[in-house]
Amino acid sequence: MRTDRWPWLGGRPALDFANTRRDAETLLTAEDLGEWLVAAELLPAPMRVRRAVLDDARALREAIDRGVVALVAGATVPAGALEAIDGWLVHAGTRPRLATGADGLPRLGERPAADSPRRALGTIALDAATLLGVPEQRARIRICAGEGCAMRFYDRSPAGMRRWCSMSRCGNVAKARRHRVRAREAARA
Ligand SMILES: [Zn+2]
Repeated sequence: MRTDRWPWLGGRPALDFANTRRDAETLLTAEDLGEWLVAAELLPAPMRVRRAVLDDARALREAIDRGVVALVAGATVPAGALEAIDGWLVHAGTRPRLATGADGLPRLGERPAADSPRRALGTIALDAATLLGVPEQRARIRICAGEGCAMRFYDRSPAGMRRWCSMSRCGNVAKARRHRVRAREAARA
């Protein structure tokens, strides 16, 4: 379940994850990471997350964010960031499972998804890899233009001209400010 503890304005798991650190760190403990993964619906239920996984998760988040910042700036994505994301892809996707079926015959199926924190992070890495590695998606990565916001988000608007993480949080503030500036200029003129 999505909680108010995190903003959920990224529109993509990878960007929501990147947004867990903006002005402040919100994944302070391994428990925080576990709770975020459940809230993001990447883990079915709370489970123990080891401290080492939190450190690795933060490194993945840093790599995603470096990729996002570089792409929005039109700069080259650091190779190290891509390598870090790529390293997680072994944990992503479905894994085959061979078991005995109800008819007693061998059956090739899939293992249940998202059954560990690392697999959940692998899912985030795959989303990030898709986001950075597919040209149509890459072109829709944005950083909110709101003053002091810098939220990362995915622009799904038809024209691809979205500037704010959300109207209520940043868009209306910016509109009100523009209105005040216009009013001041009109008063001066
Ligand atoms: Zn914003």
